[in-house]
Amino acid sequence: MELVTGKDNEILRTPSQPVEKITPEIRELIRQMKKLMKQYGGIGLAAPQLGINLQIFVAQAYSQERGYQGKFYALLNPKIINLSQQTEKMEEGCLSLPHLYGEVERPKRIVLEALDEFGNKVKLKASGLLARIFQHEIDHLNGKLFIDRTKRVKELK
Ligand code: ZN
Repeated sequence: MELVTGKDNEILRTPSQPVEKITPEIRELIRQMKKLMKQYGGIGLAAPQLGINLQIFVAQAYSQERGYQGKFYALLNPKIINLSQQTEKMEEGCLSLPHLYGEVERPKRIVLEALDEFGNKVKLKASGLLARIFQHEIDHLNGKLFIDRTKRVKELK
């Protein structure tokens, strides 16, 4: 599977549909997403980035010194149910927008509801980097990209 790229790509700009049922195909898709995310050294990946408009994303935090750490998340049909008033700014990039970076201001803490990869309903609280990854990926599921949320986009090659 290949990554879909480009800020005006139609699939990336289309809101995704909820997953109705966790079929073997969905489980296989999640496996592919996990593999691809790690292959590209990403910390999150949403199904539209693989050309599929379904509400699924994977995420895992990463630090340069320690590599992938903490829990691996595969979440379906996520809904943010609470956002903190307090925000913070952090530089973001995206595997679908190679070489582009920009500072994005987002709520620092969020609470979300979703299904896990087994179809269990989960409620998660996240802060810091993980909250940011979740918000970035949920944006993808709504057809939004981080460049829509920043005034200045830098190009680094
Ligand atoms: Zn992205």
